[in-house]
Amino acid sequence: MATVLNPRTTEYEFLGPIGALLISVSTPVAIYALYFGCSEVAGGCPSQISFESVLQALSSLEWWKGLWDTEATLIYLAWYAFCVISWAVLPGDVVEGTPLRTGKRLKYKLNAFSTLLLTVGLTTGWIMANGPESFTFIYHKWVGLVTAFLLLAFVEATYCYIGSFQQGKLLALGGNTGNVIYDWFIGRELNPSIGVFDIKTFNELRPGLILWLLIDMSMVCEQATRRGGFANVTDSMWLVLLFQGAYIVDSLYNEAALFTTMDVITDGFGFMLAFAIGFVPFTYSLQARYLVFHPVDLGYLGVIGVVLVNFVGYYIFRTANAEKNDFRNGQNPKNLKFMTTARGSKLLTSGWWGRSRHPNYLGDLLMGLAWCLTTGFETPITYYYIVFFTILLIHRQRRDDEACYKKYGADWVKYTKLVPYRIIPYVY
Ligand code: NDP
Repeated sequence: MATVLNPRTTEYEFLGPIGALLISVSTPVAIYALYFGCSEVAGGCPSQISFESVLQALSSLEWWKGLWDTEATLIYLAWYAFCVISWAVLPGDVVEGTPLRTGKRLKYKLNAFSTLLLTVGLTTGWIMANGPESFTFIYHKWVGLVTAFLLLAFVEATYCYIGSFQQGKLLALGGNTGNVIYDWFIGRELNPSIGVFDIKTFNELRPGLILWLLIDMSMVCEQATRRGGFANVTDSMWLVLLFQGAYIVDSLYNEAALFTTMDVITDGFGFMLAFAIGFVPFTYSLQARYLVFHPVDLGYLGVIGVVLVNFVGYYIFRTANAEKNDFRNGQNPKNLKFMTTARGSKLLTSGWWGRSRHPNYLGDLLMGLAWCLTTGFETPITYYYIVFFTILLIHRQRRDDEACYKKYGADWVKYTKLVPYRIIPYVY
């Protein structure tokens, strides 16, 4: 019975154990490299990236000093504990997730958005009472905070991996290869939990995404402190806070959408997801961190251009996601065309989902581009996000396409003929 419910995984993703090991080592290194290659301690950001510039940056810095910072570790643990306590005490509707292979449905408490409101309220109150200089520690304790999150991610992934061997656990279909490194990385148990505390869905939004907003707020405070008050903060910095803040608010406000994503339905919780909690805030906030030591004034035209790109991206992202969410919830307010599959599920074939198979990714990419544009054109490093995100979404689209093919078979082939473009209509 156990093997029927938890079959052995026979196919690898990410190039198997070697790929999993390489990603687990190289991505943490990349986070540090983004800091040591583009920060005040590195003397700014290079105008071009070359092997020599990377070597020079690494050899001229005693970068290993300060990797560990006890105060930063305690701050990070306190932040994580605050998120757990908020989850436990703040009220929220309880909703059911999609049915599991066991036929059971897990229950989730929706209070990520109230956790965000509480956090932002408390932080804003603190800054107003104590001035911008009172909330700049994230900028100054950057490296120590990164180390703290990496260690916690390692501990969480290892705890969940070991716990997955207890009897009665439901494993992820893709995480039961028997290879320790691969299963630890990809996530062996589908929904690890401590009592009613679901480790995966908790980590997906709260400690990482809310921290991203706090980081941006801290960067605004650091720039305000250096430039003599909030009135002198640059337009580019405000735009980063506004755009990324809106993106974060949107994700947390739509918390319920999380329970139908690939991460929650298909993937287990391993180092890949545990790591993403900190990878997102500490690298997606690069533009804000850069603007602290390299302020950019966009001027009216620059602001209009960047706002326009972001707005078009947001419009596509939101309307595409809304069309699919409405449809999956049994509504079709725009009367969009659809096809019915042999499994019984329906697939939209008009509206945004008739233009490409992942129109929401297109919107997401345009927004990412707008964030990078706020930093001007003096260094390619601040464009890391759009490059990384494009690779991530192309890979994710391919994974999802494969999963949909397994789910829908010939119906999926029919759908891909009706909607041939993967992400960008008429281009890709
Ligand atoms: P999507 O929201 O794109 O959903 C994919 C699923 O939608 C498919 O598996 C399928 O599931 C369903 N689907 C596919 N085609 C159709 C159709 N024509 N009609 C109806 N349903 C369809 O998945 P993601 O989890 O990848 O993305 C969610 C959001 O998160 C996106 O907006 C994305 O941009 C964003 N994101 C952001 C990241 C970041 O780091 N900032 C990282 C990854 C994602 P089924 O048929 O079973 O319902």
